[in-house]
Amino acid sequence: MARNIHPLLEKLDKTHRLSVEEYHTLLKSCTPDLRQEAARLAVERAKAHFGNRIYIRGLMEISNICKNGCRYCGIGRQNPNCQRYRLTPEQIYRCAQEGYDLGFRTFVLQGGEDAWFTDDRLCTIIETLKSQFPDCAVTLSLGERSHESYQALYDAGADRYLLRHETADPRHYGKLHPADQSFAQRRACLEDLHRIGYQTGCGMMAGSPYQTPLHLAQDLKFIEEFSPEMCGIGPFIPHKDTVFRDEPAGTVELTTFLLSLIRIMKPGILLPATTALGSIDPNGREKGILAGANVVMPNLSPVEVREKYTLYNNKLSSGPEAAQNLMELQKRMQSIGYQVVVDRGDYQM
Ligand code: SAM
Repeated sequence: MARNIHPLLEKLDKTHRLSVEEYHTLLKSCTPDLRQEAARLAVERAKAHFGNRIYIRGLMEISNICKNGCRYCGIGRQNPNCQRYRLTPEQIYRCAQEGYDLGFRTFVLQGGEDAWFTDDRLCTIIETLKSQFPDCAVTLSLGERSHESYQALYDAGADRYLLRHETADPRHYGKLHPADQSFAQRRACLEDLHRIGYQTGCGMMAGSPYQTPLHLAQDLKFIEEFSPEMCGIGPFIPHKDTVFRDEPAGTVELTTFLLSLIRIMKPGILLPATTALGSIDPNGREKGILAGANVVMPNLSPVEVREKYTLYNNKLSSGPEAAQNLMELQKRMQSIGYQVVVDRGDYQM
């Protein structure tokens, strides 16, 4: 039986593009019924592409030392209460070995903008990982760097780069970041990464301070036009040591609706159900998958540093969020009809 579908969802599904005004209309009319309709369509499109396969990434949080002062972030330079750490290359290799033995075939090296990680040091780390684990992909998420740096890291073997655009509205960007950061610079980095040949990921927080539905409509248009291979969407969650400590967190409903719209817009995109989504709802990961996500990124960092990578309050790093509990994650995914697979999980057109 043919189901009634919102005309804008249908248009997005058929043409993969909408105007900013049309995205805005969808976001303003985000009712439970519309969310359900979008999720049903998004899951259909994800299944056509990936079947019931869920890709996993082993996340290593290699340093919480950061020169930036992003106002929402608990590891920003402005937080004197953050206990700083940096993993050694040997710790990174040990994490990778542990992850490999568990079945991970992508390692994500994420961290603050820590000057210790020069191009030379990172290239050595990437080359070592690629030679020890030639069947694995290396994803970097280390913030803004120069063109020469991105190129050198790519030449050393890095496959993918995650750099959220955070918000596509320059004025909103200015409210979330200090004056030494700009959306123009962020966009230039993203374009550079793409041009070099990385599978590139952008993304934003759902419900960040000062965010309006119009900002999110601009974000969706940015994603549509930039056409990333990956997109990280998670709820904003306040951190007690930031100026946004009293701001409300983003919701599961808004986050999952955005995931569904992005899946319908870009059926083959790699779309994680993020740690932040799992942190605001015990079933957040499952809800993300059932809205169209197809990737989860359990934590592979050494247990003793996990508590120190506190981007926001109550960030999950144990239970199914810990790489070591892959069996639990597998069971949870099976309970909603999905299968965690041992696979690099590259982007495919
Ligand atoms: N330094 C790298 C960068 O800027 O891309 C990687 C690390 S950064 C901490 C990773 C992401 O964490 C950011 O892109 C941001 O969206 C997210 N994040 C930071 N603080 C957050 C918060 N309070 N709530 C939710 N997500 C947050």
